[in-house]
Amino acid sequence: MDTVPDKIAELEKLIGKTPLIEIDFNYKHKECKIYSKLEYYNYTGSIKDRMALYILKKAYNKAHIKNNYTIIEATSGNAGISFSAIGTYLGNKVEIYTPDWISEESKLILKSFGAKLHLISQSDGGFLECIVQIIERANTNNNIFLPSQFSNEDNISAHYLSTGPEILNILLKNNISPSAFVAGVGTGGTLMGVGKYLNEYNNSIKLYPIEPLNSPILSAKKEFCKHRIQGIADEFIPPLLKLDKLHKIISIDDGDAIIMAQMLASKLGLGVGISSGANFLGCVKALDILGSDAEIATIFPDDNRKYLRSYLEKTEPPQNNFLSPSIELIGIKTLI
Ligand code: PMP
Repeated sequence: MDTVPDKIAELEKLIGKTPLIEIDFNYKHKECKIYSKLEYYNYTGSIKDRMALYILKKAYNKAHIKNNYTIIEATSGNAGISFSAIGTYLGNKVEIYTPDWISEESKLILKSFGAKLHLISQSDGGFLECIVQIIERANTNNNIFLPSQFSNEDNISAHYLSTGPEILNILLKNNISPSAFVAGVGTGGTLMGVGKYLNEYNNSIKLYPIEPLNSPILSAKKEFCKHRIQGIADEFIPPLLKLDKLHKIISIDDGDAIIMAQMLASKLGLGVGISSGANFLGCVKALDILGSDAEIATIFPDDNRKYLRSYLEKTEPPQNNFLSPSIELIGIKTLI
């Protein structure tokens, strides 16, 4: 039978090395382009596989987790899916604490990978209560492993060691020198890890975090408001995020992100999630800041399947401040 290290070595072949595409579009009467990694090509369909596999690999190496341990995590979606699939395959039990407003599809996917779900309503405390409850579980039970994705530095390392080099190497191979990297912030692992790698190469590369306009926790330090860009902006500023290492915080309306995700699917066949729509619009705002010749990179963290019923099949009314109506998508090229 395969050992845990054997299984991890096999999973490493199914996670990462995702395609990097150029997206061409017209904006303000100019032809523009941005670059994005298609992270739904990963094992369970999201960027969070990178973090989950790396955290579990490190924890097994240090014997912080063994086969009879239960993995317990607080997550609003993709991280739970990654830990459920990978953890179950490695031989661990997995329990996920999550706000009850995640999509029904997400709940079914988590269960399909064998996870036990604990759903917490907003009135019972929502995401923060999920974290309180898992800490209590760990304090009162043995044989529990908490990946602690919001504070575990291995989350950043996963992106420093894989996502960052993958983006930079392919861009440089194509004679493209990136001016900025833009990403929505959930744990901040993607932005801090990719950003660290890019800034070690060139510290003038700008790093722009994205947050929902209707829940401005990072920029305005306001209280959390429910928004529809699932996967980013949970209920607090994540400890991994170091705003002093980042540049301008870009705000994106969740309705605009929904329309943009719908456009990427219906015009280019890129069936991406809502945070991908937000990341695309964040790149467009970065072009406004840096000039339309700037080379801007981002990631599309997951695909649209979990959000179709809840948000993406509905027609979103455009507002005056939306960017998506001024964008005309043209085509894609894969960079190799
Ligand atoms: N988009 C989606 C769909 C996600 O699931 C996540 C992770 N929660 C993010 C963006 C943000 O990634 P990170 O946690 O690395 O900041």
